[in-house]
Parts: sequence; structure tokens; C-alpha cells
Amino acid sequence: MRDVIIVGGGPAGLNAALILGRCRRTVLLCDSGTPRNAVARRTWGVFTRDGTPPFELRTQAQADLARYDTVERRDVAIVRAERRDTGFAVTLADGTRETARKLIIATGLHQALPSIEGFDTYWGHGVHSCPYCDGYENRDQPLVAYAHGPSAKGVALELTVWSRDVTLCTDAHETALSDHDRARLDGHGIDVIETAIARLEGNGDRAERLVFADGATRACHAVFLMPVPCGPSDLIAQLGCDLTDKGTVPTGEYETTNVPGLFVAGDASRRVQFAVVAAAEGAMAAFAANTELLREDVA
Ligand SMILES: Cc1cc2nc3c(=O)[nH]c(=O)nc-3n(C[C@H](O)[C@H](O)[C@H](O)COP(=O)(O)OP(=O)(O)OC[C@H]3O[C@@H](n4cnc5c(N)ncnc54)[C@H](O)[C@@H]3O)c2cc1C
Repeated sequence: MRDVIIVGGGPAGLNAALILGRCRRTVLLCDSGTPRNAVARRTWGVFTRDGTPPFELRTQAQADLARYDTVERRDVAIVRAERRDTGFAVTLADGTRETARKLIIATGLHQALPSIEGFDTYWGHGVHSCPYCDGYENRDQPLVAYAHGPSAKGVALELTVWSRDVTLCTDAHETALSDHDRARLDGHGIDVIETAIARLEGNGDRAERLVFADGATRACHAVFLMPVPCGPSDLIAQLGCDLTDKGTVPTGEYETTNVPGLFVAGDASRRVQFAVVAAAEGAMAAFAANTELLREDVA
């Protein structure tokens, strides 16, 4: 039985493995190799590594782990996980079974795009999920907030941090905009278009305009999607972990969960979804796992 199994090799899982390796813990890190930001060309807002391509961050983190001989990394998915009296048992996609005293889930999130022609083409370089990550590179350009329901107003107003040319597109969905909300959006120069979107067009490299079902067009350098509930890993349900209505795990201090010995770090656990935050949460989960192991061993 190992000390810790880590599921997921993004910033959260890799940083957890690094800290645990430095604590001389025996660790197995399994990664299925499908990170949510795979389409992104750069990772912005990363301390000392601003703008580094995401795969480069991973490659460097994997190279750093090679120094720690108690850390094993395998490129394989974990398909089942269960809690036992002594810890956790997991099944890998290749059929192997492994056990550990603690489990860290760092599986990120699965994000579904609205099924609009062109959104998948420009995903990561014209269609974005987070203005903190990609707003600056699209500053002062025509921006579109793709949003409906109660969060629509907030998503559109948030984009005024990066541009004064903001349009709120509801794509014919129900909005909860009151007259007061509409006046407020209008006061900030934000047009509201409630027609269905037919497609996003561009030059292949850059998005340029939205085309609506009625044939109207709107200049659009970048679309920012409203936060939508994301699909958590199946493992989280298998382990009986609580979930928020956003599809993330409500963690306590140091990424603890309602399941003893189980920690959830990174995008799978919190609302702030930045690479550095995921890495920091991985470090906190590792710290807590190591502390629990130590307490058990010296009791
Ligand atoms: C398009 C896009 C652009 C972004 N740009 C930025 C940016 O510029 N700056 C920034 O700070 N943040 C950015 N982010 C957010 C950032 O990528 C995430 O916050 C960060 O990657 C989260 O790290 P993580 O380790 O939690 O998850 P991830 O990086 O998603 O890694 C999770 C890993 O777990 C693996 N996995 C999942 N299930 C299993 C399983 N069952 N078994 C084994 N492995 C599994 C996946 O294959 C994946 O490799 C962006 C996100 C997106 C979608």
C-alpha cells in the first residue's frame, strides 16, 4: 500500500506530487492526459511563467518530479475508486488495482461548449471561459458575453474591465433581466441581443463576427462564456463526496472533503479556476495528507 494516490496530472496533481515527494512519501500519480485547457495557446497570470504554453508547464513539472524516486507517474486513467477501512483502492483503465492510505483527486473539470457553429473552432483563441485568463489579450476589442439567466448581467458588466465595447448575447435563452438591469447595462454602453446565434465566423485564426438567426451580424473579437455547471469526475460520486450545484466539491481547510482521507484540489474543488490556484490547492492537499499520515504513524 502506497502513502498517497493522486488522480490527475494537471497543476493541482503535479504540485501535490512534488510536495509529497519532498516529504519522502510513496506516491502514484495517474493522468489520463485530457486537460480542459489543452486548446489554450498560453497560460496567463502564472507567477514567474506568465504566458507559458500549458503543455510546457506540465512538461517542466513532470521533469521536476523525476528527482523524487518515491513518486511514480503513469499515463493512465483511474476508472474506479472506493474507500476501505485502511484507505482507498483504485482500478486503473489497464485493469491494474492499486491501494493507498490517502487519495487526492485533482481531475479538473469537463466543460461542454454551447453547440453553435464556430465555437469549437475558436475555443481557446476566440471563445474563452475566463476573462481573468484571456481578457487582457482581448482588451479594447469588441467582446461578447454569452450568458443568460441570473448571471447574465454580472458576466457582461465584468467584461467592462477589459473593454468598453461589450455586447450581451442571450442566444434566445430566458434572461432574468429586470428593467433596472437593462437600464444599468445600457448605462455602461452594453447592448443586449436576445436573438438566437447562428454561428461565429472569423479568419480561422481569429474570431471576427457573430451571425444571428435573423441574418444580423455583430463584430466579435472574443466570446466569454458564462460559468456553467461542470461535469465532475465519476470518481467523486463513487466515493460519496458532496457536490455543489456548480458540480465542484465543497472542500474545507486544506482541501479536505466529507470523506475521511480524501482530498480534492484544483478546478474540481473551487470556483476560482486559475493554474496557480490549482497548484496551490495541490500543495495544501499534500500538506494535509502528509500531516494526517504523520499523526497516524506517531499515534
Ligand atoms: C481554454 C482554457 C484556458 C485557460 N487559460 C488559463 C490561463 O491563461 N491562466 C490560468 O491561470 N488558468 C487558465 N485556465 C484554467 C486552468 O487551466 C485550470 O485552472 C487548471 O488547469 C486547473 O488545474 P487542475 O490540475 O485542477 O486540472 P487540469 O489542468 O484540468 O488537469 C486535470 C487532469 O486530470 C486528468 N484526469 C481527469 N480524470 C482522470 C481520471 N479519472 N484518471 C486520471 N486522470 C484524470 C485529466 O486528463 C487532466 O490531465 C484555462 C482553462 C481553459 C479551459
